[in-house]
Amino acid sequence: MADEADSWEKKVESLARLLAAAERTVVFTGAGMSTESGIPDFRGPDGLWTRFKPVYYQEFVSDPEARKRYWTLKRQEWRDYSGAEPNAAHRALVELERLGRLSALITQNIDGLHQIAGSSPEKVIELHGTARKVGCLDCGRLWETGEIMKRVDAGEETPLCTEPGCGGLLKPAVISFGQAMPVAETERAAAKSARADLFIVVGSSLVVQPAAQMPLMAKQAGAKLVIVNLSETPLDGMADLLIPAKAGEVVPEAVGRLGKILGDG
Ligand code: NAD
Ligand code: ZN
Repeated sequence: MADEADSWEKKVESLARLLAAAERTVVFTGAGMSTESGIPDFRGPDGLWTRFKPVYYQEFVSDPEARKRYWTLKRQEWRDYSGAEPNAAHRALVELERLGRLSALITQNIDGLHQIAGSSPEKVIELHGTARKVGCLDCGRLWETGEIMKRVDAGEETPLCTEPGCGGLLKPAVISFGQAMPVAETERAAAKSARADLFIVVGSSLVVQPAAQMPLMAKQAGAKLVIVNLSETPLDGMADLLIPAKAGEVVPEAVGRLGKILGDG
């Protein structure tokens, strides 16, 4: 036990030193970032995948039954998302930005908790969209998700656009399986990753493509790679520092130490 604690301590200290030495730190977050906020991840034991079959984009647009299933799942997810609050790791990343040490915060998460915690919208790159908005697939109008969920709660199983003359399908503004990645966000994230000198993965299984290309791209361009994740990932073998521990413990401690190194604490 003493050894384990010792090694945790050393690893967090190494992370703080890497942060102090880096000029362009990119942080890449996944569902594991938000489990401590009460939002289940996909691949954990309580993961949504074990409970629901995913709906592909093509099914959503072509099959009314698939649309119903999709909205049932989204309604369930919204109960988790709407009540969730940022945790200590989200707040520590706000502090990292305040210390002037964050080049970009690339997230696979759709829960919006980075922005709610206070990370600047300019820093956050949402690769998979956001569950906090619902969009019309025809005219592109966006609504707050809460507003549309009220209609679903009231009995509309698959809500439609209410813009005059539209009537298009409404869908949460997230990237579904089988749907193309957002071009601008993907390009920005790739550019930031390729220029990073430190790339920190927090809470991602690194199996969702093409998002998982980002750490690879950074590493190949010469960045140091740090992975903070409770379980193994396919990139563990190329990491410069592996911290298999909780995001809510590691990130605040490392940023706190960085503050001290920079003489701010
Ligand atoms: P994933 O579910 O595939 O993997 C999450 C990883 O985080 C796991 O390896 C797990 O061991 C680890 N983990 C769990 N809790 C942790 C903690 N407290 N500290 C450190 N590690 C922890 O997640 P992914 O790689 O992000 O891929 C899932 C996809 O599903 C993404 O595309 C994302 O858009 C979507 N998703 C998002 C949310 C969300 O927005 N919060 C939740 C579920 C799924
Ligand atoms: Zn419309």
